[in-house]
Amino acid sequence: MTEQALAPHANQALLNRSLAAVWHPCTQMKRHESLPLIPIARGDGVWLYDADGTRYLDAVSSWWVNLFGHNQPQIKAAITQQMDQLEHVMLAGFTHEPVVALSEQLAALTGLGHAFYGSDGASATEIALKMAAHYWRNLGLPAKNRFVYLQDSYHGETIGALSVTDVPIFRQAYSPLVRDNFAVQSPDARQAQPGQTARDVALWAIEDLARVLAAHHHEIAALIVEPLIQGAAGMAMYDPIYLQQARALCDQYQVLLIADEIAVGFGRTGTMFACEQAQIKPDLICLSKGITGGYLPLAAVLCSDAVYTAFYADETARAFLHSHSYTGNPLACAAALATLAIFRDQDVIAQNQRKAAEFNRIFAPLAAHPRVRHWRNCGMIWAFEIADAPAQFATLFFTEALKEGLLLRPIGHTVYFMPPYIMTAEDAQFLLAGTLKALARCC
Ligand SMILES: *Cc1c(COP(=O)(O)O)cnc(C)c1O
Repeated sequence: MTEQALAPHANQALLNRSLAAVWHPCTQMKRHESLPLIPIARGDGVWLYDADGTRYLDAVSSWWVNLFGHNQPQIKAAITQQMDQLEHVMLAGFTHEPVVALSEQLAALTGLGHAFYGSDGASATEIALKMAAHYWRNLGLPAKNRFVYLQDSYHGETIGALSVTDVPIFRQAYSPLVRDNFAVQSPDARQAQPGQTARDVALWAIEDLARVLAAHHHEIAALIVEPLIQGAAGMAMYDPIYLQQARALCDQYQVLLIADEIAVGFGRTGTMFACEQAQIKPDLICLSKGITGGYLPLAAVLCSDAVYTAFYADETARAFLHSHSYTGNPLACAAALATLAIFRDQDVIAQNQRKAAEFNRIFAPLAAHPRVRHWRNCGMIWAFEIADAPAQFATLFFTEALKEGLLLRPIGHTVYFMPPYIMTAEDAQFLLAGTLKALARCC
């Protein structure tokens, strides 16, 4: 038997072992009785390869983390180099060059002076929520310990993060464990009635926030938002005026503003951080996902000097006594520094603007497709809904897209592209052609 003939068996053996030993995330495992897992052997650029050599264009950036492709030489070299120096040291009582340099660079980029580290997005949300409530406690206002979040928001799936997350499928089973907070109208531009603009929707939604803050500000520590795009809501995009007015209301009512830029940070929306488009500065910003270019788990919460200062005292109890074992891991920080160096060296933000304009021209047939609704683009994200989608559309489309060599994972009836920034015009053509074919077979 040749090696090629053996390969499918090797694949099948891996799939069986995976199902026997691994509990996969965000999955009803029984569905894998009919929907096969995809064994990935290696990645290179925008492509993922299975053991047979079949390749898939990673059009969701391995779930929103990969910025510059797989097997990225600079990031790989930075991690390898760091590995020769120091793989890890606890950050309590110790420090090291990569974490200092990264904190300095993130402070320069965000205008927020101190960085606290976690390991993934949800840990950043937990840190931000705890920090906000503790801030008010330190200022003598312990009643301010609840939060405001937007309808359809997603901030992670740990119990604290679920208390500001409004995706029923993630939250329902755990609702007895989750604290009640205040949900306010989403500014999602898809809600626009005929004749209404995205700005009209945002201004209508802000009234709801104003009402809740007016009534409950004495018990509210912070508003948490995904700036410009609510990702898990189906790439719901909204007008930056919402963020401007939210900032003003937070100031008026003494409520902190937490910007969850875990998904939208690092250039995704066309600026380094989405808040820049509203010309606002949050009190706390949560960063993760793309921060290491998709190489290693890392999260950072940066805070204003006012927040930092409120914890700075002689009493231990006023300190932020929070930590994770891998807080500030040097390898992850080295990957993040390499990622930031690519942004500078390759002028990525300007480059992406040119690319997005070109991709918009390439994707024009989708915008005009008879089943496509709410075609939209912001930075390096494209999204649309399918009208009269069949039952199980997301699974069906995912399967059909795989046959076209595309990794696409719709959210309900929403199809989105969130590709690595290195995607070329040729790749975009491939993505368009495969998407059109998969759509033709699904609906
Ligand atoms: C992914 C995401 C999170 C959670 O990050 P994890 O690393 O998956 O825990 C939080 N907020 C937003 C906006 C996200 O997209």
